[in-house]
Amino acid sequence: MKIIDRHYIDGRFVPSHGTATLDLASPVTLAPLARVTLGDEVDARRAIGAARRAFASYSKTSVQERAGYLQAIHDAILARFDEHIAVRTEEYGGVAKHSRFSIAGAAKVFLNMKKTLEAMPFSKKLGEAEVVSVPVGVAALITPWNSAVFMVCNKLAPALAAGCTVVVKPSELSAQQTRLLVECIHAAGLPPGVVNIVNGTGEAVGNVLSMHPDVAKVSFTGSTAVGKTIMRNAAETMKRVTLELGGKSAHIVLDDADLAQAIPFALAVGFANNGQACIAGTRLLVPRSRLDEVTAALAEAVAQWKVGSPADADTQLGPLVNERQYERVQAYIRRGIEEGARLLVGGPGRPSHLPTGCFARPTVFVDVDNRMTIAREEIFGPVLAVIAYDTEEEAIAIANDSIYGLQGWISTTNAARGRAVAERIDAGMVMVNRGFDLLDEAGAPAGGFKQSGIGREFGEYGIREYLELKSVFVE
Ligand code: NAD
Repeated sequence: MKIIDRHYIDGRFVPSHGTATLDLASPVTLAPLARVTLGDEVDARRAIGAARRAFASYSKTSVQERAGYLQAIHDAILARFDEHIAVRTEEYGGVAKHSRFSIAGAAKVFLNMKKTLEAMPFSKKLGEAEVVSVPVGVAALITPWNSAVFMVCNKLAPALAAGCTVVVKPSELSAQQTRLLVECIHAAGLPPGVVNIVNGTGEAVGNVLSMHPDVAKVSFTGSTAVGKTIMRNAAETMKRVTLELGGKSAHIVLDDADLAQAIPFALAVGFANNGQACIAGTRLLVPRSRLDEVTAALAEAVAQWKVGSPADADTQLGPLVNERQYERVQAYIRRGIEEGARLLVGGPGRPSHLPTGCFARPTVFVDVDNRMTIAREEIFGPVLAVIAYDTEEEAIAIANDSIYGLQGWISTTNAARGRAVAERIDAGMVMVNRGFDLLDEAGAPAGGFKQSGIGREFGEYGIREYLELKSVFVE
């Protein structure tokens, strides 16, 4: 069993002041993997202090210096690429294809941010004013477990590009993955105190970060419920907040869709990352005129999905992150049945060939009404809800009838029609016939409408979340 009992503060791996521990188990075998020591308020304050001291000089660095650090972190992550994949497989249960995508994306985000930084104006003349962009201050980065390394990097890159120093509080469930990332960041040779990482729970460490007066900015990715708590906590000191929250995204299959494409696409975006993806298309909106055809094709396609160990290269669906998440998904499946949705495939319990571990059965419900719990709440597991519609107008209304607005998906053979429907979806990103092989290549922003969040990540939009604007007039 690995012991992770140090935080990374002021450029050093330091013993934890907090003494509580959390044991992490394999989601496949439930065997113990690691024991992580959780930081407390003192650890959080130490990290904030280090970041605050480092801010004085880091905020004054040149674009070239910061670009150099971004390049160095990128290189350091890639140098240990295979180890990242191995630990993500072991600790999280990530399947090979998604793990490669996620870790490659985590490294790439630094390169893309470097390009954005080098091209971005930090000062602009507007009439008699010079409008300058200055780093906001110490930023707290709080992240979830479902793509642990990518989520940290996707915040770290723009924060460092902007000239902020940071305290990261990663998910306590991804301590081994984070530890490897911290070693890479350490190897990149940034000045002490620029990046600090404290393991710990949201209640102990997260609350200090979202309330401490020396933290100017909180960037959070996680559930909407916790996002609301953070926003309330941050209000007292008027911190800037970026919140990347939950989703219950619709995938509209238009009546002209080619099912040979649309059905595999529906499963790929519905069950992505073992069903634990914020942008997953978990409400599948199907024209009633083609419902029988779609359900037959879905049943056949799901039966062929390979569920199993993430260590096997061809596994498509691995386990949920832990037993708690497994129980949560089971409760939603039972709730769907109780509320009158009909199981097309899957259902409660584990797949018959996987009697142990956190494996849920890939599940598709039909006869779902958009008012049912399984259509309204984020399940975060491999559960699709098929909802029938009669007209395109009704499909758009159902898609938008959600407290969330993170993502939209559309399948059609008519790109212009898909484009027109996309315009009417209330979401931060809409993909027509496209999977998420795209990341932040061109710096297009990602983020949520409504209760899916506030602010945007990627590219210049991402950096701007860590900058303040100042207008200077000189006579
Ligand atoms: P979570 O909200 O439970 O936890 C996220 C992080 O917040 C963890 O590090 C946790 O320790 C911390 N936290 C908990 N309570 C806190 C508090 N009071 N103050 C400060 N920090 C606190 O989310 P999770 O279960 O780790 O991740 C799953 C959720 O993340 C899903 O809702 C998913 O949709 C969302 N998510 C969103 C995006 C996006 O880009 N919008 C991406 C990935 C995941």
